[in-house]
Amino acid sequence: MAIERTFSIIKPDATDRNLTGAINAVIEQAGLRIVAQKRIRMSRAEAETFYAVHKARPFFGELVEMMTSAPVVVQVLEGENAVAKYREIMGATNPDSAAPGTIRKQFAKSIGENSVHGSDSVENAAIEIAQFFSGNEIVG
Ligand code: ATP
Ligand code: MG
Repeated sequence: MAIERTFSIIKPDATDRNLTGAINAVIEQAGLRIVAQKRIRMSRAEAETFYAVHKARPFFGELVEMMTSAPVVVQVLEGENAVAKYREIMGATNPDSAAPGTIRKQFAKSIGENSVHGSDSVENAAIEIAQFFSGNEIVG
C-alpha cells in the first residue's frame, strides 16, 4: 500500500466546542500521523477558493460563512492510503448517515457543521495542502 498525504480541516463547530484534541486522538488511533498542523482564521477569499467546486450549490454562501465564523485547524495527515482512510474515519457528510465510531457520527452537529474536511483524492490533497502549507512546514 502507498504512503499518502491528505489534507484535513477541523472546522469551526469543532474548534468552538474544544474538540481538536478529541478529533486528533481518533486520527492518531487510526494510524494516521499529523505531519503538519496550524490553527488559523480562514479569510473569505481563502474559503471561497477552497470550496470553489461548490460555488453553484445553494449552500455555498452558508458554507463560506460557516468556515470563516471561528478558527479552524488545518492539517496534513500521512499514512498508508491516507486519503481513503481519513474519509472512512470521518464518516458520511451527513452525520445522521455516518457509521458508528466515525468522527462525524461522534461530533458533527449537522450536514453543514460536520466538524471535519478531508480531501477526496490524492490529486486534490496535493492542491489543498499547497493552499495552506509551504514545504518546510510539513515534517514527516
Ligand atoms: P468536505 O469536502 O468538507 O470534506 P464532503 O466531501 O463530505 O465534505 P461535500 O459534498 O464536498 O462533502 O460538501 C462540502 C461541505 O459542504 C460539507 O462538508 C458540508 O460542510 C457542506 N455541505 C454539503 N452539503 C450541504 C448541505 N446540503 N447543506 C449545508 N451544507 C452542506
Ligand atoms: Mg468534499
